[in-house]
Amino acid sequence: MLTDYHVHLRPDDRDASLADALSAANVERYRDAATAAGIAELGVSEHVHRFRECLEIWDHPFWREVATDDIDAYCEQVRERTDLRLGLEVDFVPGREDRTQTLIERCGLDYAIGSVHFLGDHAVDWDRFDIWESARSPEAVWARYFETLAEAARSGLFDILAHPDLVKMWGTARPVPAGDPRRYYEPALEAIAETRVAVEVSTAGLRKPVGEIYPAPAFLAGAVEAGAPVALSSDAHHAEQVGFEYERALALLADCGVRELATFERRERRLEPIG
Ligand SMILES: [Zn+2]
Ligand SMILES: [Zn+2]
Repeated sequence: MLTDYHVHLRPDDRDASLADALSAANVERYRDAATAAGIAELGVSEHVHRFRECLEIWDHPFWREVATDDIDAYCEQVRERTDLRLGLEVDFVPGREDRTQTLIERCGLDYAIGSVHFLGDHAVDWDRFDIWESARSPEAVWARYFETLAEAARSGLFDILAHPDLVKMWGTARPVPAGDPRRYYEPALEAIAETRVAVEVSTAGLRKPVGEIYPAPAFLAGAVEAGAPVALSSDAHHAEQVGFEYERALALLADCGVRELATFERRERRLEPIG
């Protein structure tokens, strides 16, 4: 059984509406793409920053620009009008754990996906608010990124850790620390071992400058050794990206000895054989 849980039906452009994203026709497009890719478990996990309520968590200038939707309407419409699992992609904002938990609980989700896109006000994966313009060194950015990912795991807020080594997204288009990156993974892998939070294997990195699956094989091997279950996703932003390059993800999972995937319903986790 295959899953695609980290999926956006709502395009990133400003004029797109939530109603269009959750229309029967659009949901059917995604469902058809999933069926064609052999994916039985399909979920939706819109970005928390699209919802007005996120401003209670964090008052970032970008969030203020785009937080226009109503989160209760999102949850109701997914439950009532679709057969998709209900998820949410939520940024981990250090120091705002209580407010984040309140928002997640209000939604009655099947799963919460925790992401680290920002370190302070700056983004590791976006040329707006680019952290690399002011970064002291690539070593400092990578160390802080994986320490923040560890904090996200330990927060207990999330069912799945999204794109675990997102900090590599730019590939060689930004500075990369020299040598074996495994030393940066360690704090995150320790936190994963303690919490057994599910780790996302995401093919989205194949569409980015780095051209690699998230996470790197060494990170995934460490997470599997630590006893973490794997959640498989494409981070699709269009129906055509559902199940994107899954053959490559399945080869990586086989190499790491992963034979089961995590599935989620009302935040209860179960492991299902891949097939
Ligand atoms: Zn993300
Ligand atoms: Zn996403």
